[in-house]
Parts: sequence; structure tokens; C-alpha cells
Amino acid sequence: HRRSTTAVRSNKVSVGPTRLLTKLKQDCATPLPLLHHVADAMSSEMRAGLSSVDGPGLPMIPTYVHTLPSGNEKGLFYALDLGGTNFRVLRVQLGGKDDRVIDVDFDQVAIPHDLMFATSEELFDFIALGLAKFVDKEDSRFHFPPGRKREIGFTFSFPVKQTSIDSGILIKWTKGFAVSGTVGRDVVACLNEALERQGLDMRVSALVNDTVGTLAGAEYYDNDAKVAVILGTGTNACYIEKLSAIPKLQGHVSSSGKMIISTEWGAFSNGLPLTVFDREMDAASINPGHHIFEKTISGMYLGEIVRRVLVNMAEEEGLFGISVPQKLSMPFILGTPDLSAMQQDNSGDLQAVGSLLYDKAGLESNLSERKTVLEVCDTIVKRGGSLAGAGIVGILQKMEEDSKGLIFGKRSVVAIDGGLYENYPQYRTYLQHSVKELLGTEKSNNVVIEHSKDGSGIGGALLAASNSMY
Ligand code: BGC
Ligand code: MG
Repeated sequence: HRRSTTAVRSNKVSVGPTRLLTKLKQDCATPLPLLHHVADAMSSEMRAGLSSVDGPGLPMIPTYVHTLPSGNEKGLFYALDLGGTNFRVLRVQLGGKDDRVIDVDFDQVAIPHDLMFATSEELFDFIALGLAKFVDKEDSRFHFPPGRKREIGFTFSFPVKQTSIDSGILIKWTKGFAVSGTVGRDVVACLNEALERQGLDMRVSALVNDTVGTLAGAEYYDNDAKVAVILGTGTNACYIEKLSAIPKLQGHVSSSGKMIISTEWGAFSNGLPLTVFDREMDAASINPGHHIFEKTISGMYLGEIVRRVLVNMAEEEGLFGISVPQKLSMPFILGTPDLSAMQQDNSGDLQAVGSLLYDKAGLESNLSERKTVLEVCDTIVKRGGSLAGAGIVGILQKMEEDSKGLIFGKRSVVAIDGGLYENYPQYRTYLQHSVKELLGTEKSNNVVIEHSKDGSGIGGALLAASNSMY
């Protein structure tokens, strides 16, 4: 998409480099009424999703987690955590009420890019092999008595139609995964077959979404945790729901009378301020038309949206001069961590912005171009963080409406994890600001937004323990 002649360029440049930026800011604006609309729509789509299985509204997936770990869990438990970017194996030693988590060991690897396009067997063999290697290096402290199987919590961060605490069918892949042969299959069965191929005799006692693991991990230390949100490569939120408020589970009983619901809010799309860049990115994705909220607010996509805006500004307004380096036209060449790194540059000449643009995209830039790039980043990040905040308020509002005072009338903790939230200060600030603005001072005083680091892995092990067969 290089500009072919300088004549064309000087012609277009006369429009000025700010027209597209102004338009972008308008298209991405998140004024308070819009945020309120998003929060309200989130609440009502939650209700719709709780009523019908394949009807309108959010997926609202029943997780079959009826109670969160009590704190009394004891012993050694394992967790496998397959997220969007990393794969982790953990061994967690639980010491019960007083000692809690005594020890955690883990291995972590980045998921090889090829594996995202592999076959189901290849993906699950990779997971089972990682587990086998981890168990192989264990010393005798960790030997289990004969007849007792090691138990695993499998944290699987994709939309799964759960059929019980230890089984669930993959609905679809997200976050760029396109592994063949898994959709429609029980992922625990897939894992068990791979464990068998590795000669490993372990038992998957809980299949959990990463949000559910995060809620379990957070609530273990803080009983006021009621909602968990992941803002990483992808995004999702879960919360504790009353069975009586889940019409689609009519007849299902549990002693707690509750169940954690994974909203799969990434699938939300109602009233979002979207641009042509969002639409084009969606069209080019592995799941066009799906997970639009995720594509607007999560880490996998923010860098790519910015890249698409910059290509357009380069082509139409001559941002970066006469010729646009080929590199900038490569999808996903700019990552969300790059945006964050650039936005932390406080130097007068924006040196760090300049080198990053050069290293990542081959762009030579002057100061005013760097400033424009930062404004583009800020626009996309502000929209993302503010909308994430509106989503959180939507969940809290729904819970409050059903419980009258149990959310805003007392301390309520929203546990958040994920690299985007953890590593992007501006995103965090926009999110928090949006929550405050939407709720007003009084209500927001009782809402505590907490970073719950790595809760999903430990939470997976905790849920393996609380669902142990021994
Ligand atoms: C998946 C969710 C997951 C979230 C965060 C989304 O793409 O659909 O199941 O919880 O990413 O990892
Ligand atoms: Mg994760």
C-alpha cells in the first residue's frame, strides 16, 4: 500500500495531519451517556443470556462451580493453565486454614505460534508433555502413595459449554487460535487421551475458565471478592449468581444455591463506538463477527488497531513522509506492550517512541509524528479501558438489582488479572475512572478493584482440591 507518486502525496498532505486524528477521536469517544448505555446493555444481555441457552444475550456459561474453596483444602494439587499467550504447569501445596498456600512451583512457556494452527492432538500432546516433564523432575518429597492419582485443575481460557465440573465442550476458539478438530469436543477427554499417550496417570478433577480460577484465587484471601475479570490477550468476566436467577438451569440444585457464571462478555457488541479499522480487523480475524467487545478492549487487538490507523494516516496524510515502510503493513507488527512502552515515554523529544517505531515498524519519525502516534495510542486505549469499566459496572448493577444492597451497600471486590491490566498504567487509569464516573462517589466507595496476580493458576489448583475425589 505504498503511495505511488509524490504528486499524490503532496496533494493529500495539504489536508493536514490532524483531520484523520480528529475523526478518530470522534469515532472512539466514550462520553458518559454512551458508557451508561453500554453498562445497561451489559446488564440486560446478562439477564437474556441467563434465560435462554441459544437465544439472545451473552453466553452466560454455567460453570458447575457451586462453592468457592473454603480454605481448608490440604495437600498437593496441580494446575494446567492454557491461556492466550502462555502455557503454565503449576504444583501447589495447600496447608489448610492457617497455612494456606505453602508452596508453588511452576513452569511457563510461551505457546509456540505454530501450535495455534495445529491439530487438536498436537496441541494436547504439547500440554501433556509439558506436564510429564514437570512431574518427571519431581523429587521424592512429591511422591504420591500407590493408588492415589495426582489431581489437576485444568484452566482452559476459551468458551466451553460445561456439562459438569470436570467436562466441557469447546464452543469456538478465540484469540487467534485455529486448532483443528477441537471445536465440539470435550476438552477434558482430549487432555485425558493425550495424558494416556504420555503414559501419565492423572485425574482432571476440575475444568475451569481463567476468570473462574481468578475468582477462586482471589476469594481464598478475600471473602468480599464477587466478580473476576481477565484483561489480557483476551477478556472475560465471571461472578457469583443465585441458581434462582438462572432460568435456563431450571431444576438444577446445589446446597449453596449458587453457581459461578462465566459471562463470556467478549461476545458483547451492543452500542460500541466502532471505526472502519475495527471492522476491517474483525473481517480479517479467525472469528469474524464474533467477540467484538474483546476486539475493542483486549490486549491482542489494541496494537493492531493502532497499526491500522497509522497505515491509513500514512497513506492519506503522509504521516511518516513520502514512503511507508513495508513493515508497517504487516498485521500485528505493533503489540499492545509496544503501545504501553511508548506511552511511558516522558522525554521531551520522545526518544523512546522514536526508537520503538523504528525497531518495530521501520518508521523514521519526527517529533510531531511521534506526538500524533501517542495520541492515536491514547485514543484507542482510552476507549478500551473506559468500555471495560462500563462492562464491570454492568455486572455490578445487575447483581445489585437482584440483591438490593449486597453489592453497593457493602464492600465488594472486583478481582482483575491479565497482562493488559497489569502492564498498562493508562489503561488501568481509564478503567478506574470510568467505573467511578458511572457509579458516582457513594456507590464506588464500596467497590474495590484489586489486581489478583496469577490467581487463575492457583485458583485452578484450589478448585482441583475442592473437587478432589479423595
Ligand atoms: C475467552 C474466554 C477467556 C478470555 C480471557 C476469551 O477469548 O473466550 O473464555 O476467559 O479470553 O482469557
Ligand atoms: Mg492467562
